[in-house]
Amino acid sequence: MAGEPQADCLFCKIAAGEVPATVVRETGTTIAFRDINPQAPTHILVIPKAHYENAAELATQPQLLADVLREAGEVAAEDKVDTTGYRIVFNTGRGAGQTVFHAHAHVMGGRGLQWPPG
Ligand code: 5GP
Repeated sequence: MAGEPQADCLFCKIAAGEVPATVVRETGTTIAFRDINPQAPTHILVIPKAHYENAAELATQPQLLADVLREAGEVAAEDKVDTTGYRIVFNTGRGAGQTVFHAHAHVMGGRGLQWPPG
């Protein structure tokens, strides 16, 4: 059920501290950690601790969505990519490249980013 921990969810396990990650920021509702396979010098994932499948489902909790977006800005500033520019991406659905079905914002920066993305 939305908002409830899922036993088979990797990011629920990271949020619970059961799977290690390089955590860069944590709040009561969110956790941010470096992507294991970074696609840019800064590539950080910001997740709600509670389980929502994707950005649309997360948006049913507007305060939590705002928490994730605020933290995306905070980690960008801490990595000093806020001045050069960064991208916040929510891949949604397998066809768009979503592989982990626990909502997460990719925060990417530190190199030139093409538009449109591939
Ligand atoms: P998606 O493809 O769902 O948009 O993004 C999932 C992201 O999670 C990928 O960029 C992938 O590299 C990252 N990822 C997958 N497994 C792990 C893990 O165990 N630890 C960390 N830190 N990142 C992971």
